[in-house]
Amino acid sequence: MTRDPRETNLAVSATNRAAIYEEHGGPEVIQIKDLATPKKEDLQPGEALVRTLFTGVCHSDLHALNGDWPFPTKLPLVGGHEGAGVVVALGPGADEWVKIGDRVGIKWVANTCFKCDYCLDGHDASCAEYKPSGYAVDGTFQQYTRHAARYLTRIPDGISLEASSSILCAGVTIYRAIKEANLRAGQWIVIPGSGGGLGHLGVQYARYAGYRVIGIDTGEEKRKLSLDLGCEAFVDFKTSSNVAEEIKAVTGGLGAHAAAVAAASAKAYELALTYIRPRGTLVIVGMPVATLPLDIFMTVALAHRIVGSAVGSRRDANEALDIAAQGKVRVVYQLKGLSDLPDVFRDMSEGKITGRVVLDLDK
Ligand SMILES: [Zn+2]
Ligand SMILES: [Zn+2]
Repeated sequence: MTRDPRETNLAVSATNRAAIYEEHGGPEVIQIKDLATPKKEDLQPGEALVRTLFTGVCHSDLHALNGDWPFPTKLPLVGGHEGAGVVVALGPGADEWVKIGDRVGIKWVANTCFKCDYCLDGHDASCAEYKPSGYAVDGTFQQYTRHAARYLTRIPDGISLEASSSILCAGVTIYRAIKEANLRAGQWIVIPGSGGGLGHLGVQYARYAGYRVIGIDTGEEKRKLSLDLGCEAFVDFKTSSNVAEEIKAVTGGLGAHAAAVAAASAKAYELALTYIRPRGTLVIVGMPVATLPLDIFMTVALAHRIVGSAVGSRRDANEALDIAAQGKVRVVYQLKGLSDLPDVFRDMSEGKITGRVVLDLDK
């Protein structure tokens, strides 16, 4: 595994290059600016300063930019929540959790209360006090990110920082969603968006768990990627005359045992209810602001289970990274620079991204 030479440079620069915006809007409101780097003496008890080298770009970052989710973001905001870097400074007491020079990741959940029932059970995103990175607190679209030391994720040796960044949100989120389906090895799971950021990782985590996977996506590039990563069958939703019938044919007539749907379009969720089998599970993990029309009679008759799944716990993150570090999950990403962020959001809005985009924060 190749190390980035910057990982061992623990000097702290006075300037902190960041992508920041003062109001919601499209990609044009983003400003790339040099901010002042927080000083060691400014760090709060339990806080660490991370030299963020890489960050992924997630669909949630686009919602934070547009301001179209029901919960307001802080403003001005530095977005981003898939950051990977090294610890370069510690506030009082933070050394209980991490040391200078540790390779660490920053996730969507920036901090929780650590003591409520949800926190104790590892349902971090259900904690009433949880704060999201790049939303309620400044995130990883910057070279230096302050963060609660106890909520940083250790990045194992077997994975590069740039590849690990995509695991920290996309990987963890789909890994947990697949767990929520409660499948046994040999059962069928459908992953819509199998050529996309969450989906391509989901295909591999599902294969790792021994499930049989059907991908749904569109276009030759995403079909090839889905099959290469372990899908036994692929359905192109744009050219298929009947997605549900194709899935039922592949699964011996009954349909899949589960679907983990991360799509941005509401239609994908409705469609999933037509191809999961009786007693099958629909795991909802994407977050379009939309409603799902539900046939109550058929939901009971087919004994369908419909569950929401929000990101994952600290333990899920450790497991998802560990599996990737063993070489069992390949992260497909394009490496770009922070200055490309507005264009990345444009491509994302148009559904043009295969795999994930990772930004080098120095470029
Ligand atoms: Zn995310
Ligand atoms: Zn809590």
